[in-house]
Amino acid sequence: MPQPRPATAPAPELAPALERLQARIRAAEAACGRPAGSVRLLAVTKTFGPQVVAAAAALGLRAFGENYVQEAVAKIGAVAALAPGLDLEWHFIGPIQSNKTRLIATHFQWVQSIERLNIAQRLAAQRPPGLPPLQVLLEVNISGEASKSGIHPQELPALATQVAALPALRLRGLMAIPEPQADPQAQRRPFARLHALFLAVRASLEPGVREGFDTLSMGMSGDFEAAINEGSTLVRVGSALFGERQ
Ligand SMILES: *Cc1c(COP(=O)(O)O)cnc(C)c1O
Repeated sequence: MPQPRPATAPAPELAPALERLQARIRAAEAACGRPAGSVRLLAVTKTFGPQVVAAAAALGLRAFGENYVQEAVAKIGAVAALAPGLDLEWHFIGPIQSNKTRLIATHFQWVQSIERLNIAQRLAAQRPPGLPPLQVLLEVNISGEASKSGIHPQELPALATQVAALPALRLRGLMAIPEPQADPQAQRRPFARLHALFLAVRASLEPGVREGFDTLSMGMSGDFEAAINEGSTLVRVGSALFGERQ
């Protein structure tokens, strides 16, 4: 029987997988007339070990997404030791418990999953002085009943205004995780709704905040092409790059 590969071993197939993924992103940009490079790639590394992140960084990736605070904090330290001197950008993309905000505010550069004011307030208060502002996205519930996470679209404008006013945070845009769907046309509908909300919120912000409100985080391994079609600026891809999670 073949031995399972340890979760921390770098996948030999990572370089070709990254090439295929980048080619698909470029093709999706071109197919809807968007400039090459207008979509950034966030490599989602949850459940994969620090060697996998270091291997991805060696291929040029710099932005990594994590869902679980304890796992992430250990990994961020281990990667810094394995691949010192790299300016990596860590994004927290998982559900946030209030007793974990200090660790998140200390170790991450971005937080994509803000859905409540009191979590944003805690992150702002706990961001260590001397670090640049935490870059934040608001997570929107774009699939209604089918999704548990994210703020209701009706409550979004008020939350955006309140978060934009907090010190030590910089409001950068919106994120959503729509209900998984196989049909590409059906995949596009929630992404189109999120894009429309993004434009409406941006128009409602004060000019100084509006300029920095530039990030629409939508699209994962199964639906990033539909998301790019609907204006995504940041796709969050795990399994299409690193293989299935155990
Ligand atoms: C796990 C995860 C991803 C990546 O999912 P894949 O389907 O493996 O690409 C993206 N976004 C969030 C919020 C996740 O939790």
